[in-house]
Amino acid sequence: MHLIEALCRLNAIDQEWDEKGRLYQAVRQRLADSSPLEAARQAQEARRTALSQKRGALRDGELELSTLQEKVRQAEEALYSGRITSSRELENLRRDCEHLKQRISQIEESLLDLMEAVEALERETSQGEAELAAFEAHWAAEREADTALYHELRARLQALQEERERLRSQIEARALVVYDALRRTKGGTPLAPVRDGICQACRVSVPSGKAQMIERGDETIVLCEGCGRILYRG
Ligand SMILES: [Zn+2]
Repeated sequence: MHLIEALCRLNAIDQEWDEKGRLYQAVRQRLADSSPLEAARQAQEARRTALSQKRGALRDGELELSTLQEKVRQAEEALYSGRITSSRELENLRRDCEHLKQRISQIEESLLDLMEAVEALERETSQGEAELAAFEAHWAAEREADTALYHELRARLQALQEERERLRSQIEARALVVYDALRRTKGGTPLAPVRDGICQACRVSVPSGKAQMIERGDETIVLCEGCGRILYRG
């Protein structure tokens, strides 16, 4: 293969390698990171826990309420039964009833709040359940696509590496030294096309002697006097 043609081909391979290599790393990182899924699951778990806690508190409150109501019923029964004749005892009993009723009304109030909280959490949890299911489905589909892309990129990078090695073995060592140095210093674009006697990378005109060498396709490297890149007929 002609020297400049081989360098152009090598450059195309190296550029594709850079681009696909970056993509490959990004896909690999995405595949290694399942924290968004875990976060979504944890958030839903927190809603379920909050709901079951509030339901527990509601049940406890209802139980306490019925116990107190039973106590009031018994106290009132004793109060009006006529069995108790001591006025002090009756007064104590009446006072007990008052306290119990106060406590009952406090509990009734907090039960109303708890019921509202349970209803709100039930709505939130069932909405969260649907959202989590949708997220998991989306996540699985994305995973599958990323896994396919990962294998595809890996195969392509392997092929590029083989082709690059084969090509480099056919290019003379001195040309490779220049090419590699320019690849490092020119942002990964060591070559520039010449059109109408002008370097297309830096817009500096190419002296006619050099332009003729490029036109003829000499087996030699011609560098741009503006940007220093290897010139080729574009
Ligand atoms: Zn140039």
